Amino acid sequence: MRKPKVVILGAGYGGLMTATKLQKAVGVNEVEILLVNKNDYHYETTWLHEASAGTLHHDRVRYNISEVIDRNKVDFIQGTVSEINTKEKKVILEDGELEYDYLVVALGGESETFGIKGLKEHAFSIVNVDSARQIREHIEYQFATYKAEEEKKEERLTIVVGGAGFTGIEFLGELSNRVPELCREYDVDPNKVKMLCVEAAPTVLPGFDAELVKYAVAQLEKKGVTFMIGTAVKEGTPEGIIVAKGEDELEEIKAGTVVWAAGIRGNSVIEKSGFEAMRGRVKVQPDLRAPGYDDVFIIGDSALIINEEINRPYPPTAQIAMQQGETCAHNLAVLIRGKGEIQSFTPDIKGTVCSLGEDDAIGVAFGKKMVGGKASFMKKVIDNRSLYMIGGPTLVFKKGKFNFL
Ligand code: FAD
Ligand code: NAD
Repeated sequence: MRKPKVVILGAGYGGLMTATKLQKAVGVNEVEILLVNKNDYHYETTWLHEASAGTLHHDRVRYNISEVIDRNKVDFIQGTVSEINTKEKKVILEDGELEYDYLVVALGGESETFGIKGLKEHAFSIVNVDSARQIREHIEYQFATYKAEEEKKEERLTIVVGGAGFTGIEFLGELSNRVPELCREYDVDPNKVKMLCVEAAPTVLPGFDAELVKYAVAQLEKKGVTFMIGTAVKEGTPEGIIVAKGEDELEEIKAGTVVWAAGIRGNSVIEKSGFEAMRGRVKVQPDLRAPGYDDVFIIGDSALIINEEINRPYPPTAQIAMQQGETCAHNLAVLIRGKGEIQSFTPDIKGTVCSLGEDDAIGVAFGKKMVGGKASFMKKVIDNRSLYMIGGPTLVFKKGKFNFL
């Protein structure tokens, strides 16, 4: 009898969790599992702000996919997905096609520019290893060029971060630690460097605990960050950005580096493949299948699930993507075997910790608020836990964060 074929697209948190849980749940002869990913490595998206600022080398945030999959049960294909043809049950890759019986779409998210002019062309986003490496190199280039040029362009040393959500704040935490090092490395006067954070909402980290936000703002301001709150980015230009300060007041900010960190949308493959989506995210059924498709699961940043208590979507996080991977693997095993109970997915939110650099953070975990070293310790525990859940103790030993003090 032909074995059913499960194709998992994306080896991020959701995809790898599905693959590693499914490989444990099924026997070699029960199913064919194929994992497809753009690169032959997985990267910890949750550490990319560190690689982008240059406080952690990008090789520390990635590991080979072959290290965590059981090659007897899971085949890996390095390839880029262009589109899904759900009618013919086919995945179109840039250089070929794959057929599936069951499909898991775990392709993550993409930077959301809300159609704001010039951002795609002139701003960077923290989305993968390639973009992180580019941001780090670009900032260093600006410092080196400023030092070497005769007619100094001071704006080279201005770094603007658009959006004071968790990504923007975590990046600024790392950047404000990195800038003094860069100043020493390139013999640049620290007083010349500007780190600006432009946030449209009336507060930093909108919706997060006000006391913790106050702590974060004070800590980052101490390290040289200036916040422009209630200020929306309206345009990206080759010279920097244009912001709106009230109804009609526009201001140009010249900056050598603009990092756009104002939210994400689902992977573009979703809309291209004809799934009904909101900002590229599919509102999935409780069992994580796409509405109208018995054979397609969508998890992670490309899936949308509603928090019924507040009637708003859960924010897309690694925490949820990994939990969805577990449920998805369970449900696939039930479908493959034709026995057992399909599970509904319910997120189990253990907390949120936002790093403010190497040794500082804010967070709420297991209902308790924390700041400083304690919160930073918790963040590293969370980082190590995600490695453990996918690759066990070997991966934690190899890639884990042990700089607790
Ligand atoms: P990802 O983990 O992004 O994986 C997607 C995979 O698909 C990648 O391997 C990618 O290469 C691959 N892929 C994409 N497109 C294609 C294609 N066309 N073809 C083939 N392969 C493709 N969440 C938390 O819970 N805690 C945190 O502390 C936290 N910190 C964060 C810090 C930063 C700087 C950022 C940017 C995000 C952070 N998040 C955090 C959010 C979290 O990283 C995401 O929610 C999570 O990565 C989503 O997991 P995923 O499996 O959907 O996608
Ligand atoms: P976000 O949506 O959480 O925050 C984006 C911010 O950009 C918001 O504060 C928004 O008001 C602002 N913004 C939007 N348009 C703007 C404009 N035109 N001008 C200025 N500001 C504008 O997005 P994010 O920070 O990229 O996070 C993405 C997801 O990843 C979220 O779900 C987040 O929870 C998760 N994440 C979690 C962590 C963590 O748990 N430590 C860290 C990073 C990201």
